[in-house]
Amino acid sequence: MQIQEKPYLTGRTFMFSIQKGEDLLQAVQYFCHHHQLRCGLITAIGSVERATFGVYDQKAKKYVKINIEKELEVLSLSGNVSLFDDKPMVHAHLMLGDIEGKAYGGHLMAGTRVFSLEVFIQELTGELKVRKIEKATQLPLWTNPLGSK
Ligand code: ZN
Repeated sequence: MQIQEKPYLTGRTFMFSIQKGEDLLQAVQYFCHHHQLRCGLITAIGSVERATFGVYDQKAKKYVKINIEKELEVLSLSGNVSLFDDKPMVHAHLMLGDIEGKAYGGHLMAGTRVFSLEVFIQELTGELKVRKIEKATQLPLWTNPLGSK
């Protein structure tokens, strides 16, 4: 576990919408690049025309991709933005519901097409979180500047 020395402070707060037809992940990623937003929390609600998300296969160490070709409500999207390769990287998970109320969910991937979406991002200021590929999981995880396990 990481011991955090200093708490983060809140920076800018953004509320915006993403329009029909846009790629959800790319649109949020673009917004973060455009506003130089390098650390923060993301939530969103709305609906999508189709979805692509993944579930990480921990043994094979790769994402199993799931595509759902129907309209879905975004019941919940939560994620964060931090640095990977010196660029803001959005990491988000979402839960989706279909017309029968069935739920699906996973790790948001490119290909999820927005119908309408309201996004909230809270920027955090303080020591930047930086991702690096971690050996044990093969995932881009936050590095620990304190050097503990
Ligand atoms: Zn994830």
